[in-house]
Amino acid sequence: MPRKRSPAEEHAAEPAPEPAAAVEVELPALTPPGDTLERIREDIGDCKRCRLHEGRHNIVFGVGNPHAKIVFVGEGPGEDEDLQGIPFVGKAGQLLTAMIENTAKKEGIPLSRADVYIANVVKCRPPKNRTPEPDEMEICGQFLFRQLEVLKPKAICVLGGTAMRALLGGKEGVTRMRGKWYKWRDIPVMVTYHPSYLLRAYNTGPKREAWEDLKKLFHFVYD
Ligand code: SF4
Repeated sequence: MPRKRSPAEEHAAEPAPEPAAAVEVELPALTPPGDTLERIREDIGDCKRCRLHEGRHNIVFGVGNPHAKIVFVGEGPGEDEDLQGIPFVGKAGQLLTAMIENTAKKEGIPLSRADVYIANVVKCRPPKNRTPEPDEMEICGQFLFRQLEVLKPKAICVLGGTAMRALLGGKEGVTRMRGKWYKWRDIPVMVTYHPSYLLRAYNTGPKREAWEDLKKLFHFVYD
């Protein structure tokens, strides 16, 4: 009597399936032609692409002048931002506004917060304000990159290490990178401290350095 074949032998005896005909899949372009801020917001929709959607109240898309010459990029929304749906409106945001407007005034540059654009790497508040995880930054970062491509500012200012790493990569700290120019897709990038760090800084050194960074940024863009 012939021996019963094991399931593995049965499977091995089956003819190999014909390879399926290749189907062309159209992937969305990284930056779709004719992209606009409105279209990006529509594409985000009621986003659940990463775990950060779980605790959010509002998606914090970005705010400011769509023709801004400078875009500030932070890490992610905090509590106030999550509740209001607007980036940089809490204590750190108020400090950022004061930094922008006081520096511009001292340098004789007519610039207010309303003239710039402000956005974050992730658009939903991380729980307990933790740093966004790399996968969250990668998923949400695509929207930030599209915003930057649409806005095409004359310069970008990254606030703090997380935003710096999202745009420039690398592992260096802000202290080493700040005050110098880099590039993101041909757009000059200035690195400086996140205002929430400046609120906690023990001495005035970092505040003075951040003021120097903004001075350099504003003169580059407006001179
Ligand atoms: S953080 Fe970004 S990718 Fe994640 S759920 Fe919010 S909008 Fe979507």
